[in-house]
This record gives sequence, C-alpha cells and structure tokens, in this order.
Amino acid sequence: PLPVLAIVGRPNVGKSTLVNRIIGRREAVVEDTPGVTRDRVSYDADWAGRAFTVVDTGGWDPDAVGMAALVAAQAEVAIHAADAVLFVVDATVGITDADEAVVRVLRKSGKPVVLAANKVDDQRVEAEAMNLWSLGIGEPFPISAMHGRGTGDMLDAVLAAL
Ligand code: GDP
Ligand code: MG
Repeated sequence: PLPVLAIVGRPNVGKSTLVNRIIGRREAVVEDTPGVTRDRVSYDADWAGRAFTVVDTGGWDPDAVGMAALVAAQAEVAIHAADAVLFVVDATVGITDADEAVVRVLRKSGKPVVLAANKVDDQRVEAEAMNLWSLGIGEPFPISAMHGRGTGDMLDAVLAAL
C-alpha cells in the first residue's frame, strides 16, 4: 500500500482544487465510507517519482451549526488513517475557529503536518501567509492551488513528511 496523505481544512479553503492540482489529469478512485467520512475520496498521485495516495475530505455546509466541530471530527478520522497531513488554510481569510479546531486534532495526533497557506495568487498576499506561523505548527507554505504557485516546494515538504 502507498503512503497516505490526508488533505484537511475547513470548507472553501481550496482542498479539492489542491487535490486536482496534485493529481493532475488522473482518473479518480472513489472510496465511499459511511457516516462522517462519507465524503472522503482517495486518489493516486506522484511527485518527484514517489507514488502516494491523496485523501480529500469535505462535504460540510460552511453555515452548519457547529461546523468547526464537524470539520475537526472528520479531520480526526482522516488523520488517523494517514501517514502525513496537508492542512490547508485560506491565507486571504486568516485563522478561524474551525482552523483552530483542526490544529488541536493535529497536535493530538502527532502526525507530520505540512501547512499550506492557500490563495496566495500573487506576492501581495504572502505577508498574510506568514501570519499562519502563529498557529504554532511550523512553516506555512504560501501556495495558489488555482494557479500552481508554490505547490512544488510544498510537495517537496510533503514527500519529506510521508
Ligand atoms: P474546499 O471546500 O476546501 O474543497 O475548496 P474548493 O477547492 O472547492 O475551493 C473553494 C473555492 O476557492 C473555489 O471557488 C475555488 O475556485 C477557490 N480557490 C481554490 N484555490 C484557490 C486559489 O489558490 N486562489 C483563489 N483565488 N481561489 C481559490
Ligand atoms: Mg472540497
């Protein structure tokens, strides 16, 4: 079995966009699991000649009551099954309650984490990305999942973590 990278984060930060960026044009392999994890979907990916499995998470209503807890609960399941975690935050919005809930789960898990500061489409947003150092989980990698900016350096860090 390939090493597993879980992509976690609150709704709309760009997780699925980033998964598509990572897997390129590959055909997705879908795994449906009941309950809180029903929206987890796995894909084969590779970077720099190393193959791994990417697990996308999501499916919550961003306006749901208790959304932060829902996100954290699903992140917990995905993180448990992962060898490393790619935690995606929207650098243009900054840190929210849901992000902090995920950080608590990440800390408890002890799994290696790469922090992606997404939506850094140009250099002007890079200062916002650096604010994410305050999460206390290491270096934020400024990326644009949409345009591909910074994703190479981020994936190098992912390989080191897997
Ligand atoms: P998810 O809910 O975390 O899976 O987020 P999605 O991948 O569905 O993206 C949510 C929204 O953010 C969509 O409108 C995306 O087009 C947008 N988005 C994702 N990545 C970027 C990015 O790097 N830059 C910008 N400007 N928008 C992005
Ligand atoms: Mg998604």
